[in-house]
This record gives sequence, structure tokens and C-alpha cells, in this order.
Amino acid sequence: MTIEPTPIERLEGETPTLTGARLADGRFIPLKAIFVGASVRVASPFADSLGCEMVDTPMGRVVKVDAMQQTTQPGVFAAGDLARAASNITLATSDGMTAAHALFRSLVEEETAPAA
Ligand SMILES: Cc1cc2nc3c(=O)[nH]c(=O)nc-3n(C[C@H](O)[C@H](O)[C@H](O)COP(=O)(O)OP(=O)(O)OC[C@H]3O[C@@H](n4cnc5c(N)ncnc54)[C@H](O)[C@@H]3O)c2cc1C
Repeated sequence: MTIEPTPIERLEGETPTLTGARLADGRFIPLKAIFVGASVRVASPFADSLGCEMVDTPMGRVVKVDAMQQTTQPGVFAAGDLARAASNITLATSDGMTAAHALFRSLVEEETAPAA
């Protein structure tokens, strides 16, 4: 394995074909494929506008949640890519189910709580 410290200036090839990478010093490295660590970015302003705390991860900034997908705002739950570093459908749907259960439970507890 070779580690190339020179930054890549651009990828070359006619889409969708990749032929290689042009480095900042002008050299061309032929490549058949490339793996990238793409970072995530929350698309909607909902979490921010509700005052939910965010957390920085190696893959980007996401909404901070606890094990039950509860954000730092009571009654606000977040699930999926919005609230975890790893982008994965199975994990996103699992988070969604966890959030739905926790939300349902919190509503029942609120409804059945003895009056203060
Ligand atoms: C190219 C690519 C390939 C992938 N391949 C795989 C794979 O092979 N296997 C795997 O497990 N995962 C894969 N993933 C990751 C997977 O797609 C995500 O983890 C998953 O879709 C996350 O689901 P989500 O519901 O959290 O978010 P999303 O699927 O992004 O859904 C969010 C939805 O919210 C909508 N939205 C955003 N803002 C607003 C707004 N203001 N109002 C209303 N709606 C809004 C968006 O339009 C979108 O429909 C891949 C992702 C990409 C980008």
C-alpha cells in the first residue's frame, strides 16, 4: 500500500467512469475506484429551531439523542441520519421504532401522571 500525501486537485474521467486522480503537483494517479468518507449535514432547520443540542461526530454534526432517541428538548425525538453518525437504512428504521415507542410511552405517562 502507498500513502500519497499530496492533495487531490480533481478526479478525472467521463461520468460515470473514473480514470484517475490529478494531484495538486500535476501528477496523475490512475484509479479504477475510490472510497470516500462523506460527512453528513442536517438538511432541515427543525432541530435547530426547536433548540435541540447538536453533537460533532467524525462524520459530521448530528442531533444529540439518548438511548431512547430523546433529544435534549423534552418531548422531541429524532431518528435516522439526522441523529447518528453512521448512515444505514437498518439503523435508521430501528431508531425510528425506538423513537416511536419512547414517544408513545412518554405520552401515556403524561396522560396517566397524577395531578400535581
Ligand atoms: C448514495 C447513498 C447510498 C446509500 N447506500 C446505502 C446502502 O446500501 N445501505 C444502507 O443501509 N444505507 C445506505 N445509505 C444510507 C441510507 O440511505 C440512509 O441511512 C437512510 O436513508 C436514512 O434514512 P432517514 O429516514 O434518516 O433519512 P432520509 O432517507 O434522508 O429521509 C429524510 C427525508 O426527509 C425529507 N426532508 C428533508 N427536509 C425536509 C423538510 N424540511 N420538510 C419535509 N421533508 C424534509 C427528505 O426529502 C427525505 O425524504 C445510502 C445513502 C446514500 C446517499
